[in-house]
Amino acid sequence: MMDELITTLKTHQVKLVAVTKNHAPEEIMELYRRGLRIFGENRVQEMLLKQAALPTDIEWHLIGHLQTNKVKLIAPFVKMIHAVDSLALLQEINNQARKADRVVDCLLQFHIASEATKFGLEVDEALKMLQSTVFQSLDNIRICGVMGMATFTENQEQVRLEFRTLKTIFDTLKNTFFEDKPYFKERSMGMSGDWQLAVEEGSTMVRIGSLIFDALTNEGPP
Ligand SMILES: *Cc1c(COP(=O)(O)O)cnc(C)c1O
Repeated sequence: MMDELITTLKTHQVKLVAVTKNHAPEEIMELYRRGLRIFGENRVQEMLLKQAALPTDIEWHLIGHLQTNKVKLIAPFVKMIHAVDSLALLQEINNQARKADRVVDCLLQFHIASEATKFGLEVDEALKMLQSTVFQSLDNIRICGVMGMATFTENQEQVRLEFRTLKTIFDTLKNTFFEDKPYFKERSMGMSGDWQLAVEEGSTMVRIGSLIFDALTNEGPP
């Protein structure tokens, strides 16, 4: 099952972010032994514990909502922050990345779901942000693309349309602000329940947790 997932993603050149939340370092090591190197956490404290306990060649992605006061804790090592949804957050990431003498990759999170509770920018907010002189002065962050979470629903057509919306937003931003920036190329969309739809709609990065850990449990040791 897991090999099949990995093969399918490879065929489509989609990166797998293995979401390790709620799983202990020993379990995560099993994924590491199978060759996975990109791990995602949605909480800063959990990421810190695991980063300290696991091999240093792991790429850590913060995928959940990030509070500005916690940025400094992860700035020294985090590879990518998926859920950037304000200029204030971006400025703080830039400040802390500069102190660590690093450039931190970021994705802009867009609100594509019909649920009111999900975080994310609206398109006009993002346009305003990207046009601002403040944004243009940020040298220690790179906006590498967009991220979104679809509505939690059985309605496949709705989920598909939400992913398609995110792809359209990506295209607009690419054409307007990032045409000459090859690093602006990522569309982080798709989780355990909807990753196939996301890949069909142009995902470049899926964030999958329960599906791979369930597969590990069912397969037992390799
Ligand atoms: C937990 C989580 C995922 C993975 O969810 P699964 O359904 O376990 O695959 C993906 N993205 C975010 C932001 C998450 O918090």
